[in-house]
Amino acid sequence: MRVGSTAKATGIVTLVLAALLGSAYALGRSLVLDPAPRHPTNVTTNADGPHYAADQPSDGDPDSSPRPGGSTGPAEAGQDGSGRDAGGDKLFGAHETTGSPRLALTFDDGPDPRYTPQVLATLREFDVRATFCVVGENAQNHPDLIQAIVDEGHTLCNHSWHHDVGLGARSADAIRADLLRTNDAIRAAVPNAPIVWYRQPGGAWTYPVVSVARQLGMTPLHWSVDPSDWDLPGASKITATVVTQAAPGSVVLLHDAGGDRQGTVDALRRILPDLTARFELEALPTDPT
Ligand SMILES: [Zn+2]
Repeated sequence: MRVGSTAKATGIVTLVLAALLGSAYALGRSLVLDPAPRHPTNVTTNADGPHYAADQPSDGDPDSSPRPGGSTGPAEAGQDGSGRDAGGDKLFGAHETTGSPRLALTFDDGPDPRYTPQVLATLREFDVRATFCVVGENAQNHPDLIQAIVDEGHTLCNHSWHHDVGLGARSADAIRADLLRTNDAIRAAVPNAPIVWYRQPGGAWTYPVVSVARQLGMTPLHWSVDPSDWDLPGASKITATVVTQAAPGSVVLLHDAGGDRQGTVDALRRILPDLTARFELEALPTDPT
């Protein structure tokens, strides 16, 4: 075993990563108006599908009030890394960890025919089960992918109908209708599919959205490791963040839709050899207690 050297190496990686993140943050603030996509062709590709606001806690908003319509602009991009410091008071009891030594990978905003099949193939290759937080309209548009997710032993999480970051500020009736519509779309693809988790878009939790989710039999699910893959940091940085921050019980936030996710897909192939060597990975259970 090389536990000692691994721990030492991990420490060094942490230091290097911290330095890199600091530089990237400073750089990001100066370049934030010119995002320069890695694959320019995907600018047009993105027009083919919905592009959602990232799943970032609204730390920049003192009152946590979500931005109507879901902004994807520099304000969110500038919050690099802030997700880990969201603080329990903004989560209204949403789970941040698995509650066991096992680690869970979660994939948000899909399904998407460009990336979800690649994620499924990679998970299959490493014999890993995960949890997919799907958007209702995407479930409706791609029932075959919902079926594939379930067929391969992964579990489902409701991620709202249209990735409405402001959903938590709406009436309880509106929230309930949104979540039920999403579950209906999932079950139109897979009747009787267990849907016992709910993740609020943007992590913009409110008391009403948590309450309604619980009333509908779904446990609110946040996360504890966030590589900000929605911000297209590239496969190497996504990999480094996940590998460095992963710990027993981690819930890792990744995205298989909502924009160019090839970086996430590529990172997953690098992440899984490391994680499967150090942790037991699980799909979040369909019978949470
Ligand atoms: Zn999302």
